[in-house]
Amino acid sequence: MGTTVFERRRPAASVVEHSLARSEHRVFWLDDLGVEARKRRPALTGEHVAQLVVVGGGYTGLWTALLAKEREPDRDVLLVEGRTIGWAASGRNGGFCAASLTHGLRNGLDRFPDELATLERLGRENLDGIEKVVVEHGIDCFFERTGELTVATAPWQADHLRELPALGETVGSRLEWLDADAVRAKVDSPTYHGGLLDCDGVAMVDPARLARGLREACLRLGVRIHENTPVTALERSAAGVVLRTAYGRVTARRVALGTNAFRPLLRRMSSYLVPVWDYALMSEPLTAEQRAAVGWADRHGMADAGNLFHYYRVTDDWRILWGGYDAVYHFGGRTDDRLERNPATFLRLAEHFQATFPQLEGLRFTHAWGGIIDTCSRFSAFWGTAHSGAVAYAAGYTGLGVGATRFGARVALDLADGRETEATRTEFVRTKPIPFPPEPLRYAGITLTRHELARADRNAGRRGLWLRALDRVGLGFDS
Ligand SMILES: Cc1cc2nc3c(=O)[nH]c(=O)nc-3n(C[C@H](O)[C@H](O)[C@H](O)COP(=O)(O)OP(=O)(O)OC[C@H]3O[C@@H](n4cnc5c(N)ncnc54)[C@H](O)[C@@H]3O)c2cc1C
Repeated sequence: MGTTVFERRRPAASVVEHSLARSEHRVFWLDDLGVEARKRRPALTGEHVAQLVVVGGGYTGLWTALLAKEREPDRDVLLVEGRTIGWAASGRNGGFCAASLTHGLRNGLDRFPDELATLERLGRENLDGIEKVVVEHGIDCFFERTGELTVATAPWQADHLRELPALGETVGSRLEWLDADAVRAKVDSPTYHGGLLDCDGVAMVDPARLARGLREACLRLGVRIHENTPVTALERSAAGVVLRTAYGRVTARRVALGTNAFRPLLRRMSSYLVPVWDYALMSEPLTAEQRAAVGWADRHGMADAGNLFHYYRVTDDWRILWGGYDAVYHFGGRTDDRLERNPATFLRLAEHFQATFPQLEGLRFTHAWGGIIDTCSRFSAFWGTAHSGAVAYAAGYTGLGVGATRFGARVALDLADGRETEATRTEFVRTKPIPFPPEPLRYAGITLTRHELARADRNAGRRGLWLRALDRVGLGFDS
């Protein structure tokens, strides 16, 4: 069995520990949201009626409410959020806002080969649509259309990436292969063997500011927002769909659910979704010397091409966010807040950071946090309806939802309104992922898969029996 570059270049434990010594267990992006965002909307009390109720104040819910108002300004839209707008995945992610709706080209080709060109186009239109809203509503979220550079940290990864520009061309996506010298001229690391540049398919954003901006845009358009209002039950009545909350009740003609991987209000959703924990570190701002030592003038979002991969980026004030790699599922799908702290993963992330950028030894991390990713077995969104079409949902973005949630919301709204569109006619929208088995098989299967992905990374990408079996039944992942 071989080793990964992160194991071969493992830094001294003291260097890693020093880099974490002053980090706080807090989400960097949620630190500084300004007074307006901290003014909470009141919880819902008493009896209400609305034409459309949106449950969930992350991007899926916010985009649904915004798009509903854009389509029909007079529609009465009410959004309920269990805690505060954008506290969950939408306010704590890496901020890679990608055009891809299918979690990358290869995953799209494996699952939707006949319609991938359409999905890629719809994805590019979706990203353009996000940019338009950011500009029109003056959303101050450091939206930068930098593109993304995926780097190979092993020769087998370089072989895989080299094939992608030709594949991309067949579906209208522009990708460019760069050799090791060209990549290191952009961002310098001794671990790089080459890379793939997606010039215009990804924008970088400050995720919490995007959520805050969407919230403000919704309020301006007249959406009624209630925070601290978990919906506890949803049922059909003669008057419509009734949603119960701790202090009130709302009856709606249509309901859209954007509840991610939290306990679903429709039982059927729980077989398709598992909450997987993802973790990230944020560094202090780089000094001028540190910036010169690393490069990164184009400020691309970056990721490596392992099966277990890191994603990393710079902020407006030149901090580095470094996240990913460990993807942790807890037995029974636990989502409690204590799991946001994971020192073992924070140490591993810091170790891999130092192995990647030895020239940044001494740089400290200021923030460390975790969040929940709504993972499904096809690694990209799915949709559904319930209660004779009065309730629609979108979920399952599996770690690539910053951009795709707007598309997810648009389709959920189409489904709730009974509108047939180019998007709703696709297999992508009409089909569901393969359900996960119940516990304890669920936990055993996910844990084994993670273990086998790590083994493949050590073994020049060669997939063992378990991963090959998953590939054969359409459950393998390759972004
Ligand atoms: C650490 C991390 C890094 C990530 N990095 C990236 C990235 O760089 N790029 C990318 O594309 N994606 C990334 N993602 C994924 C991305 O953040 C999500 O796909 C996206 O934010 C999902 O938005 P959402 O609105 O569906 O879910 P959420 O933002 O989780 O919002 C769901 C909301 O529903 C509310 N809710 C749930 N149940 C109820 C109820 N019963 N009643 C009322 N409210 C309820 C919750 O309180 C929550 O606020 C990352 C995720 C994490 C955790």
